[in-house]
Amino acid sequence: MDQVTLVVVRAVESGATTTKGIIGATGLSRLKVERALGTLEKQKLLFRESRGSWALGIPVRPTVRQCGSCTLCCKVLEVTDLGKPLNTVCNHIQAGGGCEIYSERPRQCRSFSCAWLQGHLDDDWFPETAGMVAHFGLDSLNVQVDLAAAERWREEPYFSKLCELSLKGLRVSEGHPYATLVMVGNDKYLLLGRTIVPDPTLFGTAFVPITHDSFRYWKATSLEHLQRLNDRVIEIQRIRQEFGYCAIPDDDDPYPPYRPSLLQQPEQPGAAGAP
Ligand code: SF4
Ligand code: SF4
Repeated sequence: MDQVTLVVVRAVESGATTTKGIIGATGLSRLKVERALGTLEKQKLLFRESRGSWALGIPVRPTVRQCGSCTLCCKVLEVTDLGKPLNTVCNHIQAGGGCEIYSERPRQCRSFSCAWLQGHLDDDWFPETAGMVAHFGLDSLNVQVDLAAAERWREEPYFSKLCELSLKGLRVSEGHPYATLVMVGNDKYLLLGRTIVPDPTLFGTAFVPITHDSFRYWKATSLEHLQRLNDRVIEIQRIRQEFGYCAIPDDDDPYPPYRPSLLQQPEQPGAAGAP
């Protein structure tokens, strides 16, 4: 999937469900947005709801578990076709679990299946008790947290598992890469191992590892900015390979050439000229 299409997917996931809204959220031209929407629709990854808004529609995989009494996704997720916002209990939930309009429920509900239901997570993650719904998107693992348990994702055993899943998603050598995103009301966090990136942008985040599970990151404000950030990250990796050390830059908006400043060693305390 190309960068423009990825940005459009992230915009839809972030709540921009009309073409105009996607253009406004991304700053991309109408032509680019419409082309990306057309591609995604052709691949059956995106569809128009009866209210005319765009919704992601990833095919449901066979499930190995049953929802039972859980109805958390019917509370925490948005259902555009019903006009149901995030974190609002759906009017169609039946007492004791289930959907009272099951045979006529919107396509968005039909195509949804959480990661616990699909067998990707152990029983600690049963959504009703965990207080969060984890589900895989096109290029992301999304964790929608119930506002009644807003800090739960930072607690154990959840945070360590999220860290593990995040590291797995970042390792391109381990199959399909994905980003791990946590949504708590209007707050959104990207996880890079144990590093929490608040308010990630639609354009992506460049990052380099500092330890095996923590990272230094820079948030991109446009596709062109992401390209420059990623070019500098590639240079950092090259210098680390060549010299075993590279300065980690502080500035957020780099321009080439990157190598001279990256090769600067930090001043040693007590060295001549150091404060
Ligand atoms: S959150 Fe998962 S287990 Fe709970 S109702 Fe939705 S799909 Fe079923
Ligand atoms: S329509 Fe049914 S399946 Fe969809 S959110 Fe409401 S209760 Fe859940």
